[in-house]
Amino acid sequence: MIKRRQSRQIKVADIAIGGGAPVSVQSMTTTDTRDVPASLAQIKTLAENGCEIIRLAVPDMTAATALEEIVAQSPIPVIADIHFDYRLALQSIDSGVHGVRINPGNIGNEDRIRQVAEAAGNAGIPIRVGANSGSISAKLMRQLHKSGGDDENIIAEALVQSALEQCQKLEAYGFTQIKVSLKASDVALTLAACRRFANETDYPLHLGVTEAGTPGRGIIKSAVGIGALLLEGIGDTIRVSLTADPLEEVITAVRILEVCGLRPAEPEIISCPACGRSEIELIALAERVEQLINSIKASGKKIKLKKIAVMGCVVNGPGEAKDADLGIAGAGKGRVAVFKQGKITGICTEEEAFEILRNEISKT
Ligand code: SF4
Repeated sequence: MIKRRQSRQIKVADIAIGGGAPVSVQSMTTTDTRDVPASLAQIKTLAENGCEIIRLAVPDMTAATALEEIVAQSPIPVIADIHFDYRLALQSIDSGVHGVRINPGNIGNEDRIRQVAEAAGNAGIPIRVGANSGSISAKLMRQLHKSGGDDENIIAEALVQSALEQCQKLEAYGFTQIKVSLKASDVALTLAACRRFANETDYPLHLGVTEAGTPGRGIIKSAVGIGALLLEGIGDTIRVSLTADPLEEVITAVRILEVCGLRPAEPEIISCPACGRSEIELIALAERVEQLINSIKASGKKIKLKKIAVMGCVVNGPGEAKDADLGIAGAGKGRVAVFKQGKITGICTEEEAFEILRNEISKT
């Protein structure tokens, strides 16, 4: 069992973050925010697949204004992603967003930070601040280098100090509804910085490995980095960053939570790696079963079965997967045994077995 870190709780609309609330899944749209129908269509798809909070880039005033309609129609809370121009943050807050992501260090003088903090405070919405290894100030790095230590430790400490400084800039105006991210594209560095920050503060943490890359590598980096922290009890909301359709980010994030035991898999699919004993098209069959389950879940239906097994052979399959509610296992060339809790209930063709699975899984 994971012992979660005690963080303070904030709320993004009705989604609680921190304070023992379930770890939530975030993603970011890739559409042009000014294109409201396209942005809403993407948000809807992401929400149907498990995204709980969505962030949109706000490059200009037209985008900040377009957020009003997006917020009104979005099925999940909306966060405005602001860089450099505090007026975009103010307009986004006016448009009704449920949270803002800013870097107080790059939106200008104290008065501008004060205006954003006060506007967010009056609207009752949180602000995410964050430190990224790519944007740590050279001055801070020079100071830390003087005190010695290896590079990884120095950058981790720089991320922590930079994030704390951003929190203090908002706290100076009485604003405390803050969540924090500390990101690096290096997994070990991300872990070091997040652990350190988690020890020193009770701010809720937004986890992610930044610029993780294309799915082949990025999914592994994210699973290792985010997963390791979650298993230590650190992290209150997650975003997987991939150079891919954000739907892949959401699916990956949900799977990380499931694998860490922080979200029930509903149902869990287990399948063997197949070996020379298998005489069926196991990989294709396992993929079909997974797609079937995803499409049933996407339609909003709840699946009662908790565990489904797709195994290569009857020699080991039913025994190895005897805790599965329902399973199939190869039983010779093109033949498949259907089993429940390890007991074979019938033998048929692959197609017939798939239909049996479809009927059983579809029962609500
Ligand atoms: S279940 Fe059968 S096919 Fe699959 S790995 Fe085990 S022995 Fe091989």
